[in-house]
Amino acid sequence: MIEMMDIWKTYPNGAHALKGISVVIDRNEFVYIVGPSGAGKSTFMKLIYREEFPTKGQLFVNGFNIGKLKPRKIPYVRRNIGVIFQDYRLLPKLTAYENVAFAMEVIEAPRKLMKKRTMEVLELVGLGGKHAHLPAQLSGGEQQRVAIARAIVNNPSVIVADEPTGNLDPETSWGIMNLLEEINFRGTTIVMATHNREIVNTLRKRVIAIENGLIARDQARGEYGYEA
Ligand code: ADP
Ligand code: ADP
Repeated sequence: MIEMMDIWKTYPNGAHALKGISVVIDRNEFVYIVGPSGAGKSTFMKLIYREEFPTKGQLFVNGFNIGKLKPRKIPYVRRNIGVIFQDYRLLPKLTAYENVAFAMEVIEAPRKLMKKRTMEVLELVGLGGKHAHLPAQLSGGEQQRVAIARAIVNNPSVIVADEPTGNLDPETSWGIMNLLEEINFRGTTIVMATHNREIVNTLRKRVIAIENGLIARDQARGEYGYEA
């Protein structure tokens, strides 16, 4: 599903963010990516959703060699990956419904399917009743639920979540985790970067620790491993 073979990433300013990462993440896994700030976690995530390209090494996502992707195949890879951010990144002038439907418009989904599927995923995240709200009229947890609905609306095989609970209080964070677990249970691979010690140590999953651009630890049902 996701395979990295000796992946290096050096930014134009010379920062070596990743220094030879090799890892396989299988279909339907739920993986936490942990590590200190500046270790390379976000870069790792950005390579998966093709925000950045590797400087060296091979990266396969769903069987596609990301480094050698033909331009016409890019939309296909993109629609198979849903992305969730710490700061939600909703379009402020669009309603919850419109934010989610927009992700389907981008891939030119059929109109009829769009309405049905958008309402379906808003119901799934518990926001069916708030589809006409603007982001500013929703709490942080609700905005993150809209972002999750947007991430899953095209039925991606992978969700990449970069600190999805970073701006949320503990109770709201658990609600978001329940939702991500549910989505994983329905068959979506989840790769989640987090600093949330309590979540990692309670909802035990595979833990990949990145330190100084390298994989320092890879444990099944692992622990957070750093001081809070
Ligand atoms: P983390 O997510 O673990 O905090 P990042 O992947 O954001 O780590 O950063 C890893 C290293 O790469 C850091 O030294 C950071 O300063 C550097 N870096 C990240 N993004 C960029 C960028 N766009 N340009 C230059 N350097 C960057
Ligand atoms: P279906 O075969 O219709 O997808 P499921 O029981 O798998 O049936 O899904 C039930 C509901 O959840 C449907 O509305 C479906 O669109 C939605 N769904 C299915 N898979 C996912 C997923 N990975 N993430 C979010 N929603 C999903």
